[in-house]
Amino acid sequence: AAELGSLGDVVRAQARARGEAVAFSFEGRNTSFAEFDRHTNQVANGLTALGVGNGDRIAYLGKNTDRYFEALFGAAKAGAIMAPINWRLAPPEVRYIVGDAAAKVLFVGPEFIDQARELLPELSTVRHVIAVEGGAPDWPDFQTWRDSQPDADPAVRVDYEDIAIQLYTSGTTGHPKGAMLSHRALLKPRAAQLAADTAWNRWSADDVSLVAMPVFHIGGTGWGIMGLYNGAKGVIAREFDPMRVLDFIENDRISKMFMVPAAMQIVVRQPRAREVDFSCLKYLLYGASPIPLDLLKECMEVFGCGFVQMYGMTETTGTIVALPPEDHDPKGNPRMRSAGKPLPGVEIAILSEDGRRLGPHEVGEIATRSAANMSGYWNLPDATARTIDSEGWLRTGDAGYLDEDGYVYIHDRVKDMIISGGENVYPAEVENAIFGHPAVADVAVIGVPDERWGEAVKAVVVRKPGADPSPTEIIAWARERIAGYKAPKSIDFIDALPRNPSGKILRRELREPYWAGIERRVN
Ligand code: ATP
Ligand code: MG
Repeated sequence: AAELGSLGDVVRAQARARGEAVAFSFEGRNTSFAEFDRHTNQVANGLTALGVGNGDRIAYLGKNTDRYFEALFGAAKAGAIMAPINWRLAPPEVRYIVGDAAAKVLFVGPEFIDQARELLPELSTVRHVIAVEGGAPDWPDFQTWRDSQPDADPAVRVDYEDIAIQLYTSGTTGHPKGAMLSHRALLKPRAAQLAADTAWNRWSADDVSLVAMPVFHIGGTGWGIMGLYNGAKGVIAREFDPMRVLDFIENDRISKMFMVPAAMQIVVRQPRAREVDFSCLKYLLYGASPIPLDLLKECMEVFGCGFVQMYGMTETTGTIVALPPEDHDPKGNPRMRSAGKPLPGVEIAILSEDGRRLGPHEVGEIATRSAANMSGYWNLPDATARTIDSEGWLRTGDAGYLDEDGYVYIHDRVKDMIISGGENVYPAEVENAIFGHPAVADVAVIGVPDERWGEAVKAVVVRKPGADPSPTEIIAWARERIAGYKAPKSIDFIDALPRNPSGKILRRELREPYWAGIERRVN
């Protein structure tokens, strides 16, 4: 297939190839590719009429809906940029992001009308608000607004390097940053991946994909685009709900889905999960945070489909490294601990602190170069310069190593690494060891200040209901499985771990009380 030049071209091509087939299905509303093409023309024309043109940004504050994808692809056809907002953020954070993006138009989901109304006086760049569903006093309803626009293709010139999406990072390590993703970054890697034609990323028009992760993360938006790109039917879940995920699989015969490990953990532990017929499910793709090996094995047993691990970040438009199903062999294949191999066209290097390239098995910061890299952080030239060098290498902030066959092993965030008595300890490895303890429901490992060791390893544990393990018992369990210096020196119990919507443990938040008034080294 010829390379597509923009997100708009993807819609046009699919409308030509399979106009009658269902592009998106949302709560009983099916939209064919031909309708989606027409709707996105109307959205583009509507935005143009509101004065939104090339390079302008619009924002979406809402849960997952088919309207989001209409707004995204409609904006793309108008040359504008979509900035989806994490609706779980507190109002001041929403205000910060809408202001940072200088959005001209704000789309608001029904759950956030009141919040948007309160914030609006402070959103000085927003000129128009559109209610995603059902309308709101003095704000037009999306469908009514869209349907009153001409449906001719706007034929706005959009360049490959133009920005299509401004996606904010998860804010796990600090303030969310607006990663500028171009049409090129969104499309070129997909073309390369399909050209490589490995079985797990081959799609057919019969594929049904579940868009269950939030669209304000690349795992939601990127996954939705992936399905459309491949002409699959995208079933959109308004919100992640473990019971509903099982319903979707059964009722919509989902064949491909992406989930984060924290979500898999909840789904697989539903007693009902053992009764569901998963025969329709071909591949479960997972990633965005480390997965405990025991959880992965449990999921493989219950779901019984092909598993693919994905490693990537907002700044790399999602996946750059993938572990294919054939390396998922629970019978002791050491590669199960790897995040996989770089996708076609992706380069990976491991760098020392002073920027030297390290050899196999040497741990350093993971850096990457490919067409999937972002164009930069919006409004943050210094952070951009620190992240991408003049040759296009992007520093991920993750620590890891390569083996001699080019498999990537991820340890953890460079910033989360614990230096205890001069030894480097990566929290994920320790968590992995403790996770298997029968009384442990969840665990996070952090470094706390320690006079003797500099930092000491501490595990914060969520107990399984009714279980009452002693700290010594958990420490002993860990010592049997990992080196003594990696095992926790102390255990704290907690009711639930602080996690962000992608299920990432907010170690920064957990660390805070222990570090009050003490400076922690920064890598
Ligand atoms: P912020 O950059 O704002 O602190 P964030 O890094 O969590 O937030 P994302 O871009 O959503 O925001 O997440 C990318 C990060 O997720 C990676 O840098 C890595 O730390 C982690 N990650 C992604 N995939 C995997 C994986 N397969 N295994 C382990 N960690 C992963
Ligand atoms: Mg990050």
